[in-house]
Amino acid sequence: MLAQLSCTVLSRKELLDHIFKLTLSSSHISRKAKPGNFVHLKVNSDAPLLRRPFSIHSVDRARNRFEILLKVVGKGSAVLSQKSPGETLDLLGPIGNSFSLPPRGREVILVAGGMGIAPLWFLLTRLAGRFSPEDMTVFMGAKSKTELLYADKLKGTQAKLIVATDDGSAGRKGLITEVFLKEIKKRGRDLKKLAVCSCGPHKMLKSMSEIAKSLDLWCQISLETHMACGVGACWGCVVKGNDGTYKRVCVDGPVFDAREVVLE
Ligand SMILES: Cc1cc2nc3c(=O)[nH]c(=O)nc-3n(C[C@H](O)[C@H](O)[C@H](O)COP(=O)(O)OP(=O)(O)OC[C@H]3O[C@@H](n4cnc5c(N)ncnc54)[C@H](O)[C@@H]3O)c2cc1C
Repeated sequence: MLAQLSCTVLSRKELLDHIFKLTLSSSHISRKAKPGNFVHLKVNSDAPLLRRPFSIHSVDRARNRFEILLKVVGKGSAVLSQKSPGETLDLLGPIGNSFSLPPRGREVILVAGGMGIAPLWFLLTRLAGRFSPEDMTVFMGAKSKTELLYADKLKGTQAKLIVATDDGSAGRKGLITEVFLKEIKKRGRDLKKLAVCSCGPHKMLKSMSEIAKSLDLWCQISLETHMACGVGACWGCVVKGNDGTYKRVCVDGPVFDAREVVLE
């Protein structure tokens, strides 16, 4: 499944300040990738030496292509964000486990914080045929309106959309985890009927994990730890499990049951 490939950049689009979408050619990734998998991209031939991990955001099997969303936070992502159509990228992928499809009959809730929409969008497209729009809700959070991704695109999916920003400049005011918690408690529905999938910054996923543990929710989270080799050899990306053992985010994850990990 895992392959080392050279793929061509087909397009590069700036979605927001410092946030880019790259479309890359690869029949292997477009055929094999599942929501939650990521690719490990070589930045340059020299520095930075280590590859950088990015979630697979969407695939187009018919056209042998896939997309990643990329936020510029440092040197690696800055270099990758400037790759132009026609340039090639060396990648390893698809890597990691994937989101388990929620059991039928559940109400599906996706909780995305900022760039966390990257793998969740791919998941949403896979769930669309299995669950009716009334049974799918997306919670999308961002620091402010200017950092809010995909609100319009999500409106077009028919899934229910709840937006929150930390400063209240779009949607409800507050952290997306607080809004999510308030909302599921308000409904008074049997929480066992929910299937929650989430991705976002570490702090947000720590809150999701605490909520999942306290309410015993079916909840999967996709973690984004610092990563070195990306193939399970170096143990540089571990997360502690409830049982005290360590799991590698790259190959045992990046998707974990939120009730089974201890996030610091
Ligand atoms: C499985 C997985 C999937 C990911 N998917 C995406 C994605 O779809 N889109 C996206 O934009 N990013 C994603 N990331 C994060 C992305 O890999 C990092 O932002 C990138 O590697 C940073 O490289 P850099 O050289 O630009 O920054 P560095 O120079 O390495 O770091 C710059 C700053 O960012 C912080 N940082 C770097 N990596 C991480 C990280 N993994 N988590 C938290 N803080 C970090 C550093 O501490 C530092 O403060 C993912 C990470 C993982 C593990």
